[in-house]
Amino acid sequence: MNLPMLGGCRCDRVRIRVTKAPLITTACHCNGCQRMSSSAFSLTALFPADAFEVTQGDPVIGGLHGPDAHHFFCAHCMTWMFTRPAALPHIVNVRPTMLDEHAWFAPFLETFTKTKLPWAVTGAVHSFEEFPPMEAYEALLQAFASHGAGTGSTS
Ligand SMILES: [Zn+2]
Ligand SMILES: [Zn+2]
Repeated sequence: MNLPMLGGCRCDRVRIRVTKAPLITTACHCNGCQRMSSSAFSLTALFPADAFEVTQGDPVIGGLHGPDAHHFFCAHCMTWMFTRPAALPHIVNVRPTMLDEHAWFAPFLETFTKTKLPWAVTGAVHSFEEFPPMEAYEALLQAFASHGAGTGSTS
């Protein structure tokens, strides 16, 4: 991938910018992600929060409106763009297809396979029935760092 990466919502009123490579990439098959993505699973590229900024527009809270995860949407086209987990203020979960160039993206791990559609195949290297336990993330992040972002990528 070429940094910085620029991106936008469906209508392009909200624009974003990412200046570092992702820490890990995921696909999630949970019921909430299936509904919010209007699809079989959601995609996430997890970036350090200090590497992410909204450069244009004013995204609004959507999704659950709960205290745990702040789901950000474009107020005009209602695209689900990124999520800020309240417990992890140092990271931001960006929907990678917002990025203008996202062909590099491939999910390294997939979560909630227990509710995945039978035909849904993501190519993820690691699969978990639910979310991996917190203590598993350190090893997963290290594995991703040596694996490289995107299974089709060389860097
Ligand atoms: Zn929009
Ligand atoms: Zn999910």
